[in-house]
Amino acid sequence: MRNRSLSPATRAAQALRMIDEVTGAVVPPLDLSSTYARDADYALRQGNIYGREGGPTLAHAEAVLASLDGAEAALGFASGMSAAVALFETLRAGDHVVAPEVMYHGVVGWLMRMAELRGLEVDLVDASQPGALEAAIRPGQTRLVWAETPANPSWDVVDIGAVAAATHAAGARLAVDCTAAPPCTQLALELGADYAFQSGTKYLGGHSDLTAGVLSTNQVDETWAEVATVRKLMGTILSPFPAWLMVRGMRTLFLRYERASENALALAEWLEGHPGISKVLYPGLPSHPGYEVAKRQMTGGFGGMLSVLVKGTVEQTCDVVRFCEVFVPATSLGGVESLIEHRKVVEGPFSVVPETLIRISTGIEDIDDLRADLAQALERAL
Ligand SMILES: *Cc1c(COP(=O)(O)O)cnc(C)c1O
Repeated sequence: MRNRSLSPATRAAQALRMIDEVTGAVVPPLDLSSTYARDADYALRQGNIYGREGGPTLAHAEAVLASLDGAEAALGFASGMSAAVALFETLRAGDHVVAPEVMYHGVVGWLMRMAELRGLEVDLVDASQPGALEAAIRPGQTRLVWAETPANPSWDVVDIGAVAAATHAAGARLAVDCTAAPPCTQLALELGADYAFQSGTKYLGGHSDLTAGVLSTNQVDETWAEVATVRKLMGTILSPFPAWLMVRGMRTLFLRYERASENALALAEWLEGHPGISKVLYPGLPSHPGYEVAKRQMTGGFGGMLSVLVKGTVEQTCDVVRFCEVFVPATSLGGVESLIEHRKVVEGPFSVVPETLIRISTGIEDIDDLRADLAQALERAL
Protein backbone atom coordinates (compact mmCIF):
# COMPACT_ATOMS: atom_id res chain seq x y z
CA MET A 1 0.00 0.00 0.00
CA ARG A 2 1.21 3.47 -0.87
CA ASN A 3 0.44 4.58 2.66
CA ARG A 4 2.88 2.09 4.17
CA SER A 5 5.87 4.15 3.11
CA LEU A 6 4.60 7.23 4.94
CA SER A 7 5.36 7.77 8.60
CA PRO A 8 2.69 6.64 11.08
CA ALA A 9 1.98 10.22 12.17
CA THR A 10 1.15 11.13 8.57
CA ARG A 11 -1.00 8.05 8.06
CA ALA A 12 -2.87 8.86 11.27
CA ALA A 13 -3.43 12.53 10.45
CA GLN A 14 -4.88 11.68 7.04
CA ALA A 15 -6.70 8.55 8.28
CA LEU A 16 -5.13 6.69 5.34
CA ARG A 17 -6.40 9.37 2.94
CA MET A 18 -9.56 7.55 1.95
CA ILE A 19 -11.05 10.31 -0.13
CA ASP A 20 -14.46 9.51 -1.57
CA GLU A 21 -14.12 8.94 -5.35
CA VAL A 22 -17.64 10.20 -6.08
CA THR A 23 -18.10 13.20 -3.81
CA GLY A 24 -14.50 14.08 -3.02
CA ALA A 25 -15.30 14.12 0.69
CA VAL A 26 -12.01 14.31 2.59
CA VAL A 27 -13.60 12.56 5.56
CA PRO A 28 -15.27 9.25 4.68
CA PRO A 29 -19.01 9.32 5.41
CA LEU A 30 -20.62 7.87 8.51
CA ASP A 31 -22.55 4.86 7.19
CA LEU A 32 -25.21 3.97 9.75
CA SER A 33 -26.95 1.26 7.73
CA SER A 34 -27.64 -2.00 9.56
CA THR A 35 -28.25 -3.92 6.34
CA TYR A 36 -26.89 -3.83 2.79
CA ALA A 37 -28.74 -4.34 -0.49
CA ARG A 38 -27.49 -6.92 -2.95
CA ASP A 39 -26.82 -6.01 -6.58
CA ALA A 40 -28.72 -7.14 -9.71
CA ASP A 41 -26.92 -10.51 -9.62
CA TYR A 42 -27.88 -10.93 -5.95
CA ALA A 43 -24.21 -10.56 -5.02
CA LEU A 44 -22.91 -8.59 -2.04
CA ARG A 45 -21.34 -5.22 -2.72
CA GLN A 46 -17.93 -4.84 -1.06
CA GLY A 47 -18.74 -7.81 1.17
CA ASN A 48 -21.16 -5.84 3.34
CA ILE A 49 -24.19 -7.82 4.45
CA TYR A 50 -25.44 -6.92 7.96
CA GLY A 51 -24.44 -4.45 10.69
CA ARG A 52 -23.53 -7.04 13.32
CA GLU A 53 -20.92 -8.44 10.91
CA GLY A 54 -19.37 -5.14 9.90
CA GLY A 55 -19.67 -2.19 7.57
CA PRO A 56 -17.60 0.39 5.74
CA THR A 57 -17.20 2.87 8.63
CA LEU A 58 -15.83 0.21 10.96
CA ALA A 59 -13.68 -1.24 8.16
CA HIS A 60 -12.06 2.18 7.78
CA ALA A 61 -11.40 2.43 11.53
CA GLU A 62 -9.89 -1.06 11.54
CA ALA A 63 -7.69 -0.23 8.54
CA VAL A 64 -6.34 2.90 10.22
CA LEU A 65 -5.67 1.02 13.45
CA ALA A 66 -4.01 -1.94 11.67
CA SER A 67 -1.80 0.50 9.80
CA LEU A 68 -0.70 2.24 13.03
CA ASP A 69 -0.20 -1.04 14.89
CA GLY A 70 1.80 -2.54 12.00
CA ALA A 71 -0.78 -5.33 11.92
CA GLU A 72 -2.19 -7.49 9.18
CA ALA A 73 -5.64 -7.35 10.73
CA ALA A 74 -7.59 -5.45 13.36
CA LEU A 75 -11.05 -5.90 14.87
CA GLY A 76 -13.21 -3.26 16.56
CA PHE A 77 -15.47 -4.13 19.49
CA ALA A 78 -18.25 -2.44 21.46
CA SER A 79 -15.87 -1.95 24.42
CA GLY A 80 -12.41 -2.83 25.59
CA MET A 81 -13.83 -5.54 27.81
CA SER A 82 -15.72 -7.20 24.96
CA ALA A 83 -12.51 -7.26 22.90
CA ALA A 84 -10.58 -8.92 25.75
CA VAL A 85 -13.42 -11.36 26.34
CA ALA A 86 -13.51 -12.35 22.65
CA LEU A 87 -9.86 -13.39 22.91
CA PHE A 88 -10.44 -15.24 26.22
CA GLU A 89 -13.39 -17.06 24.61
CA THR A 90 -10.87 -18.93 22.43
CA LEU A 91 -9.50 -20.63 25.58
CA ARG A 92 -10.72 -24.03 26.78
CA ALA A 93 -11.16 -25.67 30.20
CA GLY A 94 -7.76 -26.67 31.56
CA ASP A 95 -5.89 -24.07 29.52
CA HIS A 96 -3.40 -22.12 31.58
CA VAL A 97 -3.28 -18.32 31.52
CA VAL A 98 -0.59 -16.12 33.04
CA ALA A 99 -1.50 -12.53 33.88
CA PRO A 100 -0.38 -9.76 36.23
CA GLU A 101 -2.11 -9.37 39.61
CA VAL A 102 -1.94 -5.59 39.26
CA MET A 103 -3.66 -4.59 36.04
CA TYR A 104 -7.00 -3.35 34.76
CA HIS A 105 -9.50 -4.65 37.36
CA GLY A 106 -12.15 -5.64 34.79
CA VAL A 107 -9.77 -8.06 33.07
CA VAL A 108 -8.72 -9.64 36.38
CA GLY A 109 -12.40 -9.92 37.28
CA TRP A 110 -13.24 -11.73 34.06
CA LEU A 111 -10.31 -14.16 34.33
CA MET A 112 -11.19 -15.06 37.92
CA ARG A 113 -14.82 -15.62 36.90
CA MET A 114 -13.75 -17.94 34.08
CA ALA A 115 -11.37 -19.78 36.42
CA GLU A 116 -14.33 -20.50 38.69
CA LEU A 117 -17.04 -21.19 36.10
CA ARG A 118 -15.14 -22.85 33.26
CA GLY A 119 -12.04 -24.40 34.73
CA LEU A 120 -9.56 -22.01 33.22
CA GLU A 121 -6.27 -22.20 35.13
CA VAL A 122 -5.18 -18.66 35.91
CA ASP A 123 -1.92 -17.61 37.54
CA LEU A 124 -1.78 -13.99 38.65
CA VAL A 125 1.80 -12.88 39.28
CA ASP A 126 3.66 -9.80 40.50
CA ALA A 127 4.64 -8.46 37.08
CA SER A 128 6.57 -5.56 38.65
CA GLN A 129 9.33 -8.14 39.19
CA PRO A 130 11.30 -8.69 35.97
CA GLY A 131 10.96 -12.30 34.82
CA ALA A 132 7.85 -13.02 36.94
CA LEU A 133 5.49 -13.56 34.00
CA GLU A 134 8.08 -15.74 32.26
CA ALA A 135 8.62 -17.86 35.38
CA ALA A 136 4.91 -18.69 35.65
CA ILE A 137 4.67 -20.08 32.11
CA ARG A 138 4.06 -23.85 31.95
CA PRO A 139 5.33 -25.26 28.64
CA GLY A 140 2.62 -27.28 26.94
CA GLN A 141 -0.17 -26.05 29.22
CA THR A 142 0.02 -22.28 29.02
CA ARG A 143 -2.02 -21.03 26.08
CA LEU A 144 -2.05 -17.31 26.72
CA VAL A 145 0.10 -14.79 28.53
CA TRP A 146 -1.66 -11.50 29.14
CA ALA A 147 0.49 -8.48 29.96
CA GLU A 148 -0.36 -4.84 30.47
CA THR A 149 2.32 -2.20 30.07
CA PRO A 150 2.46 0.29 31.60
CA ALA A 151 0.03 -1.42 33.98
CA ASN A 152 -2.76 0.38 35.72
CA PRO A 153 -2.51 1.91 38.34
CA SER A 154 1.14 1.40 39.38
CA TRP A 155 2.40 1.79 35.80
CA ASP A 156 4.70 -1.20 36.15
CA VAL A 157 6.53 -1.81 32.91
CA VAL A 158 6.84 -5.22 31.26
CA ASP A 159 9.64 -5.99 28.80
CA ILE A 160 7.47 -7.13 25.89
CA GLY A 161 10.35 -8.69 23.92
CA ALA A 162 11.55 -10.77 26.86
CA VAL A 163 8.07 -12.03 27.74
CA ALA A 164 7.33 -12.76 24.07
CA ALA A 165 10.47 -14.89 23.73
CA ALA A 166 9.59 -16.99 26.81
CA THR A 167 5.94 -17.25 25.75
CA HIS A 168 6.79 -18.44 22.26
CA ALA A 169 9.42 -20.90 23.53
CA ALA A 170 6.60 -22.56 25.49
CA GLY A 171 4.30 -22.66 22.48
CA ALA A 172 1.92 -20.02 23.86
CA ARG A 173 0.66 -16.66 22.66
CA LEU A 174 1.21 -13.21 24.15
CA ALA A 175 -1.44 -10.49 24.31
CA VAL A 176 -0.50 -7.02 25.53
CA ASP A 177 -2.92 -4.43 26.87
CA CYS A 178 -1.51 -1.27 25.32
CA THR A 179 -4.29 1.06 26.46
CA ALA A 180 -1.88 3.39 28.28
CA ALA A 181 0.70 3.12 25.49
CA PRO A 182 -1.04 3.24 22.10
CA PRO A 183 0.83 2.68 18.83
CA CYS A 184 2.10 6.28 18.65
CA THR A 185 4.55 5.27 21.36
CA GLN A 186 4.64 1.46 21.69
CA LEU A 187 4.41 -1.11 18.90
CA ALA A 188 3.60 -4.27 20.81
CA LEU A 189 3.43 -6.50 17.72
CA GLU A 190 6.82 -5.35 16.48
CA LEU A 191 8.22 -5.98 19.98
CA GLY A 192 7.00 -9.59 19.78
CA ALA A 193 3.40 -9.70 21.01
CA ASP A 194 0.87 -11.80 19.10
CA TYR A 195 -2.08 -9.58 19.99
CA ALA A 196 -2.16 -5.87 20.70
CA PHE A 197 -5.22 -4.92 22.74
CA GLN A 198 -6.51 -1.45 23.57
CA SER A 199 -9.55 0.10 25.10
CA GLY A 200 -10.40 2.51 22.28
CA THR A 201 -12.43 4.41 24.87
CA LYS A 202 -9.16 5.95 26.01
CA TYR A 203 -6.40 7.41 23.80
CA LEU A 204 -7.74 6.27 20.41
CA GLY A 205 -11.03 8.08 20.96
CA GLY A 206 -9.26 10.74 22.95
CA HIS A 207 -12.28 12.90 23.80
CA SER A 208 -14.13 10.84 26.43
CA ASP A 209 -17.11 10.48 24.12
CA LEU A 210 -17.07 6.87 22.92
CA THR A 211 -16.75 3.31 24.22
CA ALA A 212 -14.73 0.91 22.08
CA GLY A 213 -12.17 -1.88 22.14
CA VAL A 214 -9.65 -3.12 19.59
CA LEU A 215 -7.46 -6.13 18.93
CA SER A 216 -4.85 -6.35 16.22
CA THR A 217 -2.55 -9.15 15.09
CA ASN A 218 -0.21 -10.58 12.51
CA GLN A 219 -1.39 -14.10 13.37
CA VAL A 220 -4.36 -14.31 11.04
CA ASP A 221 -5.27 -17.95 11.64
CA GLU A 222 -8.00 -20.16 13.14
CA THR A 223 -7.78 -18.47 16.54
CA TRP A 224 -8.24 -15.06 14.95
CA ALA A 225 -11.19 -16.38 12.94
CA GLU A 226 -12.70 -17.60 16.21
CA VAL A 227 -12.25 -14.16 17.77
CA ALA A 228 -14.18 -12.69 14.82
CA THR A 229 -16.86 -15.37 15.16
CA VAL A 230 -17.29 -14.63 18.87
CA ARG A 231 -17.72 -10.94 18.03
CA LYS A 232 -20.33 -11.74 15.42
CA LEU A 233 -22.30 -14.25 17.49
CA MET A 234 -22.16 -12.29 20.75
CA GLY A 235 -23.02 -9.11 18.89
CA THR A 236 -20.14 -7.14 20.36
CA ILE A 237 -19.07 -5.35 17.21
CA LEU A 238 -18.21 -1.66 17.31
CA SER A 239 -21.14 0.39 15.97
CA PRO A 240 -20.64 2.84 13.08
CA PHE A 241 -20.87 6.11 15.02
CA PRO A 242 -18.26 5.29 17.69
CA ALA A 243 -16.11 3.75 14.93
CA TRP A 244 -16.33 7.03 13.02
CA LEU A 245 -15.49 9.00 16.18
CA MET A 246 -12.53 6.69 16.78
CA VAL A 247 -11.16 7.46 13.31
CA ARG A 248 -11.55 11.14 14.10
CA GLY A 249 -9.71 10.60 17.38
CA MET A 250 -6.85 8.65 15.80
CA ARG A 251 -6.12 11.57 13.47
CA THR A 252 -4.85 13.61 16.42
CA LEU A 253 -3.46 10.71 18.46
CA PHE A 254 0.21 11.59 18.03
CA LEU A 255 -0.27 15.23 18.94
CA ARG A 256 -2.49 14.56 21.94
CA TYR A 257 -0.25 11.83 23.32
CA GLU A 258 2.83 14.00 23.01
CA ARG A 259 1.20 16.85 24.91
CA ALA A 260 -0.30 14.56 27.57
CA SER A 261 3.16 12.99 28.03
CA GLU A 262 4.80 16.41 28.44
CA ASN A 263 2.20 17.43 31.03
CA ALA A 264 2.50 14.15 32.95
CA LEU A 265 6.29 14.29 33.05
CA ALA A 266 6.26 17.89 34.29
CA LEU A 267 3.74 17.01 37.02
CA ALA A 268 5.60 13.83 37.99
CA GLU A 269 8.90 15.70 38.37
CA TRP A 270 7.27 18.43 40.44
CA LEU A 271 5.25 16.03 42.62
CA GLU A 272 8.35 13.92 43.35
CA GLY A 273 9.70 16.84 45.38
CA HIS A 274 6.37 17.76 47.01
CA PRO A 275 6.24 17.34 50.82
CA GLY A 276 2.67 15.98 50.71
CA ILE A 277 3.54 13.11 48.38
CA SER A 278 5.39 9.99 49.51
CA LYS A 279 5.73 8.35 46.10
CA VAL A 280 5.21 9.15 42.44
CA LEU A 281 4.60 6.26 40.05
CA TYR A 282 5.42 7.30 36.48
CA PRO A 283 7.52 5.27 34.02
CA GLY A 284 9.13 8.46 32.69
CA LEU A 285 10.89 9.13 36.02
CA PRO A 286 14.38 7.64 36.40
CA SER A 287 13.28 6.60 39.92
CA HIS A 288 10.63 4.26 38.45
CA PRO A 289 11.84 0.63 38.30
CA GLY A 290 10.57 0.29 34.74
CA TYR A 291 12.24 3.44 33.43
CA GLU A 292 14.99 1.81 31.34
CA VAL A 293 12.64 -0.64 29.62
CA ALA A 294 10.02 2.08 29.11
CA LYS A 295 12.61 4.35 27.51
CA ARG A 296 13.43 1.62 25.01
CA GLN A 297 9.85 0.47 24.43
CA MET A 298 7.86 3.72 24.49
CA THR A 299 9.52 5.76 21.80
CA GLY A 300 6.86 8.44 21.48
CA GLY A 301 6.54 9.51 25.12
CA PHE A 302 5.78 7.94 28.50
CA GLY A 303 2.11 8.84 28.36
CA GLY A 304 -0.30 10.79 30.49
CA MET A 305 -0.88 8.25 33.27
CA LEU A 306 0.65 8.63 36.69
CA SER A 307 -0.24 7.77 40.26
CA VAL A 308 0.82 9.32 43.53
CA LEU A 309 0.73 8.12 47.13
CA VAL A 310 -0.41 10.86 49.45
CA LYS A 311 1.35 11.36 52.78
CA GLY A 312 -1.84 11.42 54.82
CA THR A 313 -5.02 9.57 55.69
CA VAL A 314 -7.57 8.06 53.32
CA GLU A 315 -9.86 11.03 54.07
CA GLN A 316 -7.13 13.51 53.19
CA THR A 317 -6.43 11.57 49.98
CA CYS A 318 -10.09 11.82 48.98
CA ASP A 319 -10.03 15.53 49.88
CA VAL A 320 -7.17 16.16 47.44
CA VAL A 321 -9.35 14.71 44.67
CA ARG A 322 -12.45 16.62 45.83
CA PHE A 323 -10.64 19.96 46.12
CA CYS A 324 -9.34 19.96 42.54
CA GLU A 325 -11.05 22.53 40.35
CA VAL A 326 -9.28 22.03 37.00
CA PHE A 327 -8.81 18.25 37.12
CA VAL A 328 -12.16 16.55 36.61
CA PRO A 329 -13.01 14.02 39.36
CA ALA A 330 -13.85 11.09 37.10
CA THR A 331 -12.52 7.67 36.17
CA SER A 332 -11.15 6.69 32.72
CA LEU A 333 -8.14 8.11 30.91
CA GLY A 334 -6.72 9.31 27.63
CA GLY A 335 -9.06 12.24 27.00
CA VAL A 336 -8.10 15.84 26.25
CA GLU A 337 -9.27 16.90 29.74
CA SER A 338 -7.25 15.91 32.80
CA LEU A 339 -8.93 13.46 35.17
CA ILE A 340 -8.21 12.58 38.79
CA GLU A 341 -9.56 9.74 40.90
CA HIS A 342 -9.23 7.89 44.17
CA ARG A 343 -8.54 4.51 42.59
CA LYS A 344 -9.53 2.13 45.38
CA VAL A 345 -13.05 3.57 45.53
CA VAL A 346 -13.43 2.88 41.79
CA GLU A 347 -12.06 -0.68 41.93
CA GLY A 348 -14.07 -1.69 45.00
CA PRO A 349 -13.36 -3.44 48.31
CA PHE A 350 -11.34 -6.33 46.80
CA SER A 351 -8.88 -3.98 45.15
CA VAL A 352 -5.20 -4.39 46.04
CA VAL A 353 -4.57 -0.71 45.31
CA PRO A 354 -3.25 1.31 48.31
CA GLU A 355 -5.86 3.52 50.00
CA THR A 356 -3.77 6.65 49.59
CA LEU A 357 -3.27 6.22 45.83
CA ILE A 358 -4.53 8.91 43.49
CA ARG A 359 -4.58 8.19 39.78
CA ILE A 360 -4.14 11.01 37.30
CA SER A 361 -4.70 11.14 33.55
CA THR A 362 -3.24 14.30 32.09
CA GLY A 363 -4.98 15.96 29.20
CA ILE A 364 -3.72 18.68 26.90
CA GLU A 365 -4.38 21.72 29.11
CA ASP A 366 -1.82 24.34 30.08
CA ILE A 367 0.65 22.78 32.53
CA ASP A 368 0.68 25.85 34.78
CA ASP A 369 -3.07 25.50 35.41
CA LEU A 370 -2.70 21.80 36.19
CA ARG A 371 0.21 22.32 38.58
CA ALA A 372 -1.48 25.23 40.36
CA ASP A 373 -4.68 23.21 40.77
CA LEU A 374 -2.92 20.26 42.40
CA ALA A 375 -0.84 22.60 44.54
CA GLN A 376 -3.93 24.29 46.02
CA ALA A 377 -5.77 20.97 46.48
CA LEU A 378 -2.82 19.42 48.32
CA GLU A 379 -2.37 22.55 50.42
CA ARG A 380 -6.04 22.57 51.44
CA ALA A 381 -6.33 18.83 52.09
CA LEU A 382 -3.14 18.20 54.10
C1 LIG B 1 -10.52 1.01 30.23
C2 LIG B 1 -9.57 -0.11 30.17
C3 LIG B 1 -9.98 -1.40 29.78
C4 LIG B 1 -11.42 -1.74 29.48
O1 LIG B 1 -11.91 -1.01 28.41
P1 LIG B 1 -13.46 -0.55 28.28
O2 LIG B 1 -13.47 0.21 27.01
O3 LIG B 1 -13.78 0.27 29.49
O4 LIG B 1 -14.28 -1.78 28.23
C5 LIG B 1 -9.01 -2.39 29.70
N1 LIG B 1 -7.72 -2.14 30.01
C6 LIG B 1 -7.30 -0.92 30.42
C7 LIG B 1 -5.87 -0.71 30.75
C8 LIG B 1 -8.21 0.13 30.51
O5 LIG B 1 -7.79 1.32 30.92
